[in-house]
Amino acid sequence: MKFGGTSVGNAGCIEQVMDIIRTASRESGVVVVVSAMSGVTNKLVAAASQSEAGNHEAVAVILAELRQQHDTAASALIHSTAERSRIGDKMEQLFQAGERLCQGTMLLRELTSRTRDSISSLGERLSVLLVAAALAERGLASAAIEATELVVTDGCHGGADPYMDLTRERCEGRLRPLLQQGIVPVVTGFIGATADGILTTLGRGGSDYSATILGAVLEADEVIIWTDVEGLQTADPRLVPDARTIPHISYREAAELAYFGAKVLHPKTLRAVMQCGIPLWIRNTFAPERLGTKITPAGPPSVGGMRALAAISEVVMIRIGGPGLSGVQDVLGRTFRTTAAVRADVLLMSQASSQNDLCLVISSAVAKSALEALRHEFAHDLVHESTEHITLDAAIAMVTVVGQNMSSTPGIVGRTFGALGRDHVSILAIAQSASECTISFVVAKKDMPTALSGIHREFQLESAWDPTLAEDALVGDENDENSIGTVNRLRPTTVPARQ
Ligand code: ADP
Ligand code: ASP
Ligand code: MG
Repeated sequence: MKFGGTSVGNAGCIEQVMDIIRTASRESGVVVVVSAMSGVTNKLVAAASQSEAGNHEAVAVILAELRQQHDTAASALIHSTAERSRIGDKMEQLFQAGERLCQGTMLLRELTSRTRDSISSLGERLSVLLVAAALAERGLASAAIEATELVVTDGCHGGADPYMDLTRERCEGRLRPLLQQGIVPVVTGFIGATADGILTTLGRGGSDYSATILGAVLEADEVIIWTDVEGLQTADPRLVPDARTIPHISYREAAELAYFGAKVLHPKTLRAVMQCGIPLWIRNTFAPERLGTKITPAGPPSVGGMRALAAISEVVMIRIGGPGLSGVQDVLGRTFRTTAAVRADVLLMSQASSQNDLCLVISSAVAKSALEALRHEFAHDLVHESTEHITLDAAIAMVTVVGQNMSSTPGIVGRTFGALGRDHVSILAIAQSASECTISFVVAKKDMPTALSGIHREFQLESAWDPTLAEDALVGDENDENSIGTVNRLRPTTVPARQ
């Protein structure tokens, strides 16, 4: 079970989390993965950046706020004076380590990705202490564990990938014995370490991925992601208020939605369970009586048509093209080699021109490095050109419609673009995957909410789900013998309602 930032956002929320863990642990072994308390990682990242800029005061203010936030939660959750002072000492050691990292950064005025990872890891390392201590005080044997002991990753700071075999060995050695003794391991999400023990992070929002990594290596019956919404919805509920919970969906569709912007799942979450087929649930910590979304390899039996929408606004579009490039060889190959070299994932690519005109959508985080690298790559070819052939547009967003076998339902593309036309939304670029599961397009950033609402309405996604379908998710599908798991025992009678 993984609990996200809002789920452990304050002592009241953590009490709710305790209830869920206690109920589940009566029935089976549970490994708990926790995120940092909400807002904490953002503040830590800000502290790292302020350290690089040499702003002593700003760093001190942030660290003081974080100390206060964690002290308040510890005082409310841990009543034994001795235990509170023991946890207080451990938290203080972490804060001092954070201070030293910030001081070193301020001294050098240089923030390496390795140091940024170490600073931003503090949130999870603090929250496991709180949750494990609170569980223990409520009579449930528990152990706070840092995932640096468990999740072995490559050295790609800020977006590391796990080595599953090494991680399996570590988890068998460390977690399995605890489970056998009835102890609940409470593990930091988000972080891992290289085989040499250097701390890494899996990327922002990476605790979801931590949960599926641990679930997969331990061959769990199921993985449950507890969050602040009732499952995976037909669109981001903040942008489309009519969005509805999808009771049951396939791995493939959920993976596409996560990859193309549904923040409720880290983009790589499904990767870890693809091989083993463990059911993944997304459920609401604050409404545990609801079933949320079940994600299984095949999804519900009859699949076709559009299932949900996703969008990303933290992206840019890079255009490469113009007369100077028309005779240049291998523009596509060189473009992709260049973006790969700066680790810029290309989310959408479209080319349909005789003049080597192409456009790429990539994350804003890598926009600057990708633009510079591309201009450098083609500088020699464009030395005699007076106009800029490689340009960047940051005022865009990317919208993706997802549905398995969409192409077997004729007219989806027509209706999608018809809806955009009716709402006067212009499409700047389009790509449809040959696997027929996604159609992505680029619109102006300001048009993104209109585009999402219009398509959602056109396909009546708000009424596509009969709530009783959620019950179907419990009876399972052809791939899933374990569908009646812990979830079934967390019905209203056993878990208190939201406070
Ligand atoms: P956590 O802290 O639990 O990891 P996140 O904030 O990372 O939670 O993700 C949950 C949020 O994702 C929701 O509050 C919701 O606003 C957003 N979200 C975006 N797209 C979707 C979607 N399709 N379904 C559900 N939630 C979504
Ligand atoms: N705390 C980390 C973040 O905010 C990881 C997570 O919440 O999943 O990015
Ligand atoms: Mg998250």
